[in-house]
Amino acid sequence: MTEVWSGANAMTVDVEDYFHVAALAESIPREHWERCEPRVENNTHRLLDLFDEFDVRITFFVLGWVAERFPGLVREIAARGHEVASHGWSHQLVYEQGRDEFRQETGRAKRLLEDLVQQPIEGYRAASYSITRDSLWALDVLAEEGFVWDSSIFPVRHDRYGIPGASRWPHVITAPGGGRLVEFPLTTCSVFGSRLPIAGGGYFRLYPYGLTRAGLASVNREGRPFIFYLHPWEIDPDQPRVKASALSTFRHYNNLARCEARLRALLRDFRFGTVREVLERLDLLEPREQPLRAASA
Ligand SMILES: [Zn+2]
Repeated sequence: MTEVWSGANAMTVDVEDYFHVAALAESIPREHWERCEPRVENNTHRLLDLFDEFDVRITFFVLGWVAERFPGLVREIAARGHEVASHGWSHQLVYEQGRDEFRQETGRAKRLLEDLVQQPIEGYRAASYSITRDSLWALDVLAEEGFVWDSSIFPVRHDRYGIPGASRWPHVITAPGGGRLVEFPLTTCSVFGSRLPIAGGGYFRLYPYGLTRAGLASVNREGRPFIFYLHPWEIDPDQPRVKASALSTFRHYNNLARCEARLRALLRDFRFGTVREVLERLDLLEPREQPLRAASA
């Protein structure tokens, strides 16, 4: 019998604004981003206060576009003891980018974040989990750029992302060109032999909380940690409404008003920490010499 996972699970936030989301990209081209009312700073502060309230330190994947405009926010995330990781620069899907473009923007975002927090940036998450079978080469670029771990692979079938059949659990992954990283795939639970995505975001807003709780508890009962994700705009029911297709509108706006209360319930019901903390406990990463808390504001 497997032992229940008693360590922390990874809590993560992808720090981007409502207008960066792939589902709304047709309605808000990137040339219009500058004209949108920014809400990411305020919403991220609300999340920081919430995590303080529960005394939890988590991992924030910050978009380079956001870091350039709100450098103080990135410094504050680190100063409050959280792990800062990269969400790339432009939120363009990896499989729509060439290798050179991907390398250039990934390096640019990493250098900016490292400059802001004065710590190596070790972790990466692609926009919309867009490392798929067609873009596994991106893992080679990440390894070459000095990343140590990645959380971009969603082991499910979906119209925009996913590698159905990929491993469900944290593991060392070897990229096509030989680059090696630790991969923490987005969590699924096993239901009658199929995989149900249960890792957060739109799924968290869609399912009744009891279903999320039961699914995540089943992962811990399998003896495994889960990784959970949320976006700052998901706790902001007052964000400007953008016209989009019916499916995109549903995915983006469904149950925004319920999200914060559900997040509180989740923080009460499970133990959480940073991605690094979980990967160390699994012996997939060596402990770092310098604690993250040493970052200064
Ligand atoms: Zn994103």
